[in-house]
Amino acid sequence: MMALEAPPTAGLPVFFTDLWASGSSDLAGMLGRFLGVSSVQVECSGTAALVVALTTLHTLAPERTEVIVPAYTCPLVAMAVAHCGLRLRMCELMPNALDMDPVILATLCGPRTLAVLPTHLAGRVVDAAPARALAHAEGAWVIEDAAQALGARVGGASVGTGSDIVFFSLAVGKGLSIFEGGALVVADADLRAACERTARAIVRPSFVWELRRSIELLAYTALYHPRGLRWAYGWPLRRALAHNDRIAAAGDDFSQNIPLHRVGRWRQAVGVRALARLPAWLEDSESRAQQRVPRLRGISSLTVLDDSAGVPAAQGTWPSILVLLPDAARRDAALARLWGAGLGVSVPFAHVLADYARYAAVVPATAPADLPHARSFAARVLSISNSPWLDAESFERLCTALEQVLDVR
Ligand SMILES: *Cc1c(COP(=O)(O)O)cnc(C)c1O
Repeated sequence: MMALEAPPTAGLPVFFTDLWASGSSDLAGMLGRFLGVSSVQVECSGTAALVVALTTLHTLAPERTEVIVPAYTCPLVAMAVAHCGLRLRMCELMPNALDMDPVILATLCGPRTLAVLPTHLAGRVVDAAPARALAHAEGAWVIEDAAQALGARVGGASVGTGSDIVFFSLAVGKGLSIFEGGALVVADADLRAACERTARAIVRPSFVWELRRSIELLAYTALYHPRGLRWAYGWPLRRALAHNDRIAAAGDDFSQNIPLHRVGRWRQAVGVRALARLPAWLEDSESRAQQRVPRLRGISSLTVLDDSAGVPAAQGTWPSILVLLPDAARRDAALARLWGAGLGVSVPFAHVLADYARYAAVVPATAPADLPHARSFAARVLSISNSPWLDAESFERLCTALEQVLDVR
């Protein structure tokens, strides 16, 4: 049997030498320099960063109670909205794209809108301009969800910095990782100060959580390599697939509780050391994608997702490569062959938000015929790892399997 396992995304490995973190623990400052912004607020997760942002905005505009998100996104976003006592509105996508449909978005935006969340999945840059125009015309804010896009740029500036707020995730598998962490960037100085006040009010130090995350970071450092991943990622994945549990297999089985605690100095110092390697790591990922995307584009009837055509200056990152198959049956046939095969093939999320029974309490009910583009996207998308540990031979094996499923050889 195969002894190695490619992770589903090209997450930056933490080195054991990073753990001997005697230097700076100013992760916020280092992230600020990396992103090219004057100030970054470090939180204990991307979800926590979003909770701080939404809580702050809701304090400024208590009459605004609705948050608009793309229908296909991370369930943690829906949980954060519910945690803040706000109402989720799901927006339809454009056909075969991650962009929200601006015509539908216009019908969702109104005097009750608090925030709109353009979301850059898998490093792909979406067009946030329509959300900005529509939200600002209604007096609402734009929070870009760049949880999966740390390092993505638009015309040289970090993704999201053209909007009111942007947040990034520092969780496992999302680029730079301190096991769990988040970064909040707020454009306006007054709003930034308000977000800092919110964090002082709702985010407390927690010895127990920080100890737990520190141990998890140690375990991640020890196991995040092709052999360790077989045990730490591949084994639970194959067990979930054997039980037909796609939600667990996709990693969408989140616990109900959103921890809110401060990130300790040691984990921040580890992040500072690892972050020094991130620019070179992202460049490597980009050149790998430049090899792999054309190979995938060469498979007829496969659509490779790119940055939005509406953002000509976009330079996304490539943690993974998203492709769309022509229909759900062939996507599922590809998953049956490749998910769990150790090649880093997966799906970004199991469903559109509306189709998870376990999140029904935090997501508005929808008719099965609603959100046709988002549901079609969710049923046809495949995520292909861009990890360096998926070697050229394995990648070719994966492409051949896709060609067989699509019957184009
Ligand atoms: C992971 C993720 C989040 C939440 O980030 P965490 O750091 O895991 O809390 C939010 N939005 C999207 C799109 C994500 O993928």
